[in-house]
Amino acid sequence: MVAVKPVAWHLSEAEWQAVITGWGYPAYQARLLWRWLWQKGVADPLAYSDLPQALREKLKETYDWPVPTLIARVESQDGTQKFLWEMPEGGQVESVWIPKGARATLCLSSQIGCSLNCRFCATGQLGLERNLQDYEIYLQYHAVRHQLGLPITNIVYMGMGEPLLNFSAVVGSLEYLTQRAGLSSRRITVSTVGIPKGIRRLAEVDFVGELAVSLHSAIAEKRQMLIPLAERIALDELKAALGYYCEKRREWITIEYVVLEGVNDSSADAAALRAFVAPPIRAKVNLIVYNPVPGLPFRPSGRIAAFQQALLREGLITTIRRSRGSDIAAACGQLARRHSVNQKP
Ligand code: SAH
Repeated sequence: MVAVKPVAWHLSEAEWQAVITGWGYPAYQARLLWRWLWQKGVADPLAYSDLPQALREKLKETYDWPVPTLIARVESQDGTQKFLWEMPEGGQVESVWIPKGARATLCLSSQIGCSLNCRFCATGQLGLERNLQDYEIYLQYHAVRHQLGLPITNIVYMGMGEPLLNFSAVVGSLEYLTQRAGLSSRRITVSTVGIPKGIRRLAEVDFVGELAVSLHSAIAEKRQMLIPLAERIALDELKAALGYYCEKRREWITIEYVVLEGVNDSSADAAALRAFVAPPIRAKVNLIVYNPVPGLPFRPSGRIAAFQQALLREGLITTIRRSRGSDIAAACGQLARRHSVNQKP
């Protein structure tokens, strides 16, 4: 049997120091290595020009230095780019890079496929293939930023998968992004379908990032119709978990709401949403313009502006998220590699 080499991305700075001094090299060389790997983002130790050649070779031999393989790259008319990667441990995921003025947001996947089966979502139609490892989630950032050289100012966990169903890998990847690669936690948002247990756990661990919750309806039967998992999660339970989170962390969250024609866009829907966002929950509402998915019966609502006005009148901070990259199937909920490989823009 071939021995599996340890993955270089897993080691902490202290662990590298132990390895390097254990091999008889001075400790400062571990710091140099750390800088190459995490700040400069170079995943090949042979290129670490300020380390002795013998050490570089030993590092290369002893550890595995995986990066994702780029399978496809498509650019939208609006500048959004979508990448399909083959992951180091097998399987393919997409990430999306969305430039907007001085900002460039990268949308990461946390799982290959998704188990939730939300009725309106393309990824939901795929089923779950597997969880990504912590370093595989991080590597989507690494690859876009360092392999391809694109700037990244913000990160959202809004690609394929449900972050809170891959909890420890997601928390691990957040640590890599903030503590190791130096991104500000204020610029990272994790989006969840709303799993109370996971939300409470996030409130308690050293979670670094902002939280967004996909509500889509504050009326129980409608939410269950859109999100099958909601059949097992009472709205009150979700509400309590979100309240706990806001109190415990003294923070605001974002409520995401895809506005669907004739489904969740009436004044009764707005009133229910208004009632849901009450203390101890502190939230702003982000209305999402639906991106139609071929074969699914949902349409973007023509009432989104009126819906926003109704919420604004009630004193809710409410913004609208417009679609980006829909011409290359890179918009929210369109990530599904089956439909995207070799697709013409
Ligand atoms: N599982 C997580 C994160 C992935 S989806 C979650 O549910 O939040 C990111 C956001 O895109 C969610 O709010 C999701 O409901 C939304 N979304 C899914 N399909 C969409 C579509 N076709 N158009 C617009 N938004 C969509």
